[in-house]
Amino acid sequence: MPPGKAVTNLDYKNGEKVIYLTFDDGPGPYTEKIVSVLEERGIRGSFFWIGQRMTEAYGHIGREMTDAGHVIGTHTMHHASLSGKSKSYQEREIKDAIRAVEKHIQVPSVYFRPPYGAMNDMTKRIAADEKQYVIYWDVDSRDWNLAKHPEKIIDNVLQNVRPGSIILLHERQQTLKVLPQIIDRLGKQGYSFAALPKPK
Ligand SMILES: [Zn+2]
Repeated sequence: MPPGKAVTNLDYKNGEKVIYLTFDDGPGPYTEKIVSVLEERGIRGSFFWIGQRMTEAYGHIGREMTDAGHVIGTHTMHHASLSGKSKSYQEREIKDAIRAVEKHIQVPSVYFRPPYGAMNDMTKRIAADEKQYVIYWDVDSRDWNLAKHPEKIIDNVLQNVRPGSIILLHERQQTLKVLPQIIDRLGKQGYSFAALPKPK
């Protein structure tokens, strides 16, 4: 997995049915509740945080999360759509977020997810220069758009998951609501869960 290259799923050998739950757009009011749901089940997740949301308090929460084995990556400074933007704008959005998150959680941040999945070759080059691994997804829960139909979030995940899947979720109320069911039903299908691995 070279820095700068977009990754949509992680191959697993040995027939392991490992999948990766990822949560975008935090930190926010649901962060700790989502972490609790995960930890009650012995699961670690990966979070892509927006730089401008970082505060001292979330830094403290983020440190506890990374100490516990969760992964915190970045999602630009202002949730910016990067494709078609100038090099200086993209660099600022990406680097400022990394700096903000690292400053507060005091752990290196090596995973980056472009908002809306929007990026171009320049974005990849900047990510590579910053030693960032670009994480996409192969399962889109569409949770952000399903506040009124949270049961459809479960269907979107269960119908598309496969071993190695990276599942796109958000730090939203409806996601928190269905997260226990998603985990329990995937667990019954033999899946286990991991945070994104330390890059080799
Ligand atoms: Zn986002």
